[in-house]
Amino acid sequence: MSIVAPQERKHLSADALFHVVRSGFANIPDPRGEHGDISFTDALMSAFAMFSLKAPSLLAFDKERAEGNLHTIYGIERVPCDTHMREILDPVSPKWLRPVFKSVFGQLQRGKALEEMVFLDGHSLLALDGTGYFSSQTIHCASCLPKVHRNGSITYFHQMLGAAIIHPDLRAVIPLMPEPIVRHDGTAKNDGERNAAKRFIAKLRQDHPHLKFIVTEDSLSSNAPHIETLHAHGLHYILGVKAGDHPSLFQQVEAAEHAGRVTYDARHDRAVGVEHRLRFVNDVPLHASNADVRVHCIEYWERGAHKVQHFSWVTDLRVSKRNVYHLLRGGRARWKIENETCNTLKNQGYHFAHTYGHGTQHLSVVCATIMMLAFLVDQTQQLCCALFRAVWAKLGSKRLLWERMRALFYDYALRSMRHLLETLFYGLKKLQPLWAVDSS
Ligand SMILES: [Zn+2]
Repeated sequence: MSIVAPQERKHLSADALFHVVRSGFANIPDPRGEHGDISFTDALMSAFAMFSLKAPSLLAFDKERAEGNLHTIYGIERVPCDTHMREILDPVSPKWLRPVFKSVFGQLQRGKALEEMVFLDGHSLLALDGTGYFSSQTIHCASCLPKVHRNGSITYFHQMLGAAIIHPDLRAVIPLMPEPIVRHDGTAKNDGERNAAKRFIAKLRQDHPHLKFIVTEDSLSSNAPHIETLHAHGLHYILGVKAGDHPSLFQQVEAAEHAGRVTYDARHDRAVGVEHRLRFVNDVPLHASNADVRVHCIEYWERGAHKVQHFSWVTDLRVSKRNVYHLLRGGRARWKIENETCNTLKNQGYHFAHTYGHGTQHLSVVCATIMMLAFLVDQTQQLCCALFRAVWAKLGSKRLLWERMRALFYDYALRSMRHLLETLFYGLKKLQPLWAVDSS
């Protein structure tokens, strides 16, 4: 019996998406004008290839590069050295990369991949979360956020608002263009994140005016101005709340309980020994001082053998016994933006917190954004490409998958990413080593 590599959806294959990314980069005007020995598109695509291959640093990438494969797989004509790539990318405004995210997202829409991510009544869940990815006492650039300590010393750091479409039943997420939190936002964390969220939402609606979203965020976001912003842009929400941060809301819930307006439910999942208890109340004011912003509130307790976890959310979706478990699964899925997105980038080979060289203007932000773009293409493979999933399952971990991909990439002549994945799936016997085809 022979094993056959699974078919893929062609326009969502890595090869098709690399082409989309490259075409998107080619539309960005070269800030250097007409001059340059390395094309601007090649410089951007080289950075993308570095993150796509999870090369541990620009230098390692430079040393080990297999220029033939960079040409056949990533369409790169000439690869810049690391110093030159930094110089070319430093003046790039991160916002120029937005259309490239939109093009890849368009492919996902055409491939009906978003339909698999629908959470409730045609709406997708969109998780937002601020994350830090760089901190230093000495290295800094024009985009860094400075934090001045009492002793006068300064820590420089970078943050961005990450955004991803998530689903409680799926591990894959679809990241959108992140919103950098940069110096002009001021230095206070919450101000920065809140302003970034405002900018993000306005741009989200520009790019996708008709998509239906339910936004899910942590309790920092549960404030009247932010909820009004979401409402003004036609976005539903499930937002975390905490008794300590929202005392008047929880007083309202207590008052509603005394008035008999609270609904309760409990379920016992004997198979896993977990008890679910919840209560909810519709139409309570979020703040005592702002009675106009009214929300529906869910409180939930999960009791396992050793601990009780307590969660609470507010939402604008009217809560009933019929939908409450679904809504709280949406609220709980929010951790995917931290775990599956930010921590994946930090821990699973993307070297997110690592500095690829900081630059003086935008390099750090541009690298983080291109890394998210590479992550988007990877996640699309995870969601839509049966061959990618089969190779991943065969190797057992992403770390090993990236390692084996790189090893093949650096040593063998490959026609395409599909060729590479098929080789990982079938084994090496069908491949010729590079020396066998080298005509020099
Ligand atoms: Zn910086």
